[in-house]
Amino acid sequence: MKVFKFGGASVKDAESVKNVAEVIKMFCDEELVIVVSAMGKTTNHLEELVQLYVDKQDWKIKLDWIKNFHLDISHGLFDEKHEIYERIESIFDGIAEYLEGAEGKRYAEIYSEMVSQGELLSTRIIRHYLNENVKKTTWLDAREYIKTDFNFTDSRVDWEITKRNISSKIPSFTKDGLVISQGFIGSNSEGKTTTLGREGSDFSAAIFATGLQAESVTVWKDVPGVMTADPRKMPEAMVIPELKYTDAAEMTYYGASIIHPRTIKPLAQNKIKLYVRPFTAPENIGTVIGKGHAEKHPASFIVKTKQVFIEFGVTDFTFINEKKLSLLFNALDQLNIKINLMQNSAVSFAICIDKKFDKVEKLIERLKGDFEIEMRENLELLTVIGYDDLALSQIYHRSDVILEQKTKKVYHLLYVPEKIHKELSAQKKN
Ligand code: ASP
Ligand code: MG
Repeated sequence: MKVFKFGGASVKDAESVKNVAEVIKMFCDEELVIVVSAMGKTTNHLEELVQLYVDKQDWKIKLDWIKNFHLDISHGLFDEKHEIYERIESIFDGIAEYLEGAEGKRYAEIYSEMVSQGELLSTRIIRHYLNENVKKTTWLDAREYIKTDFNFTDSRVDWEITKRNISSKIPSFTKDGLVISQGFIGSNSEGKTTTLGREGSDFSAAIFATGLQAESVTVWKDVPGVMTADPRKMPEAMVIPELKYTDAAEMTYYGASIIHPRTIKPLAQNKIKLYVRPFTAPENIGTVIGKGHAEKHPASFIVKTKQVFIEFGVTDFTFINEKKLSLLFNALDQLNIKINLMQNSAVSFAICIDKKFDKVEKLIERLKGDFEIEMRENLELLTVIGYDDLALSQIYHRSDVILEQKTKKVYHLLYVPEKIHKELSAQKKN
């Protein structure tokens, strides 16, 4: 049994869906569970729809736009009389009806119910296409299998029930043809829709694979595999043919966006291999992530944008001591903030964190009575894993460095991005 995952970019228009079908055709003699995300940027549009609704603005134009996007794709795949059109109409009627009656419901609940529609739509459309052009395909509602807690937007999986649901029912469907289901979505014990966090479809694929004790998961991407750097930023970037689970997990920790961070753990625990392969060149093997004895791979470069650097200075001459640090770490823990980098001196403690929601403001609000706080926004954090002199010589010499840090294996550089640096210099001159 194998699990394939196709993300939004691989199904962004009719041509891409046809390409996905070609990829699946190459493997359709095997038992396959196919996990698919929402088409293109649909999830962003659905988030915007929810925001319009919450802000009491006109959401109907947005909803029409999303509907037309899916109808257009369908026109490129099916003839005019196909049953899919009626199905799409009824899904969108359902969305409008839900929003019209959602007064008084919690934001997070509305969010998950609405945003999940992207995956429900994409898998319905693709199911028909595969059924008619590749092989008999069964559509499964992931919400009947993946069970979560009551956190609607970053739900935690109830592994025991989920594994039981998957292992007891799905194998009978894969014997009979292809199986398609949704990434990103699940439901709680009341049957209400929940979501696993943005970009969570990779994690869904890992959940299905765990329940099925699958041989492997293949994440089909628009890049040739896991690379040593973002090829748009570093043309000399190379594919890493083989990675250990721990190395891959480390890369996602430092911000590599190639795989969702929660994906690796269940796969490693169950010794399920993870392939990252290009959907545009499916004959290429890409990267395999496993237990393996991967040799030391070339240095990899990861850039995290939208970083905030905050310095917490003492307000008297007591220096930074454990009491002060525990105040700070308590606040970080309670606000669920992950530190990307930290540094201390006698009179200050500095951290670098993501600019996410209103967490930075909340942190400062909580601590401004205890510390003198200084903050810089719009920074970038470069991490080089497994660096050597050659790797560091590739980094363009920067004059706008805020902090540099080295451990044996990992190098960090926090700096003002070039564009912002230029803007600031121009402001200074004026
Ligand atoms: N469609 C969801 C998102 O865009 C899940 C995913 O793509 O993995 O966040
Ligand atoms: Mg997506």
